[in-house]
Amino acid sequence: MKSNCTISFSRNDLQKTRLWRGECPIKNCAVNIKQHKAPFQKYKGKMRYLPFCPEHGIRIHKNGFVYYNGSSPADLITATKRNLMFYSDYYVANFLKKSNKMESARLCYESSEDAVSYNVFTELLSNGVALKRLVDDILKRHIKDEIELYLWGGRIDLKNNSFVQYKPLVEVRKHLEPDIKRFGTEPDIMLVIPKKVVICIEAKFGSKNPIAKEQEESSGEKPKGELKLIERYCKRNKLIDADEMFDFSNMPKLFYEQLFRNIVFAASMAKLEGNADWYVVNLRNQHVMNLKRGKSESMPIMRNIRSILKPKYKKRFVHLTWEGIYNKAVEGNEELVNLAWYLKNKSLNCGRAFNIL
Ligand SMILES: [Zn+2]
Repeated sequence: MKSNCTISFSRNDLQKTRLWRGECPIKNCAVNIKQHKAPFQKYKGKMRYLPFCPEHGIRIHKNGFVYYNGSSPADLITATKRNLMFYSDYYVANFLKKSNKMESARLCYESSEDAVSYNVFTELLSNGVALKRLVDDILKRHIKDEIELYLWGGRIDLKNNSFVQYKPLVEVRKHLEPDIKRFGTEPDIMLVIPKKVVICIEAKFGSKNPIAKEQEESSGEKPKGELKLIERYCKRNKLIDADEMFDFSNMPKLFYEQLFRNIVFAASMAKLEGNADWYVVNLRNQHVMNLKRGKSESMPIMRNIRSILKPKYKKRFVHLTWEGIYNKAVEGNEELVNLAWYLKNKSLNCGRAFNIL
């Protein structure tokens, strides 16, 4: 199944109720999507298919859609570019045509956290003032130095069209995860001021922060339970003095394992970056939190994480929202009108993605 559609869809093109009725979510579409199928994924050796709209080039899932133009590598490039508003040629050249990113094919999903991170942070990078404003807000002090952006473990260099792995991350993985095959720890986004500051950002768009579970892991996987996590990342860590940073005497009920690993990695990488300061940011979606108010996801994560950090380090963990990025770094900047439009009109589950009016 193929489609020639190259249009990108935003929230005003979509209608959630059409999706619920089993129709193509694009307003006024007359295609009967039950008559068309596109491959989704292999399950137990068999390909699974989902409804497809050939007119709009989207595969239709239960809660949203995925850009799909066909199964060839060129079709995947077309589909991915439809979800990347900014610097899509850089992405194609450095990721789709090389194997620099695992799951690089997932950026054509409407719900892709990676696509939103890529769009927002490459455009902020291209406008140095905006990125500085954001970093000033995270650090609560004024920064003069140039800020480097790292996505998926490597430096995004738009000017030289290059992508180079961050050496301290490679080193920390060698030290803490030499036996981990699926998958090594990888902060979604890093902002680095060489020799001075390492900021790791764990970005959430529609999903939740994962929690430790008392469960056996398969060989080559990261530990799942909190005691094993602490054993591997703190007790066996020779790069940092974890006892000086963490206080596990009052363990919270939920142990946010991904954020915990991010903190360990940030501190360890900062050490290798010449004793730099480190920060960890949990970047979340205010609109999704508003919708889920009262459910576990809206638990005050900041209090939870800060409760396992010693007083000196509590403020190294920061909470931020995509809406906050808009308010602090994008709104009113005439060079970022396209990014402002993107944040206001981005869709999630065929509805509004962010609470930005
Ligand atoms: Zn359609």
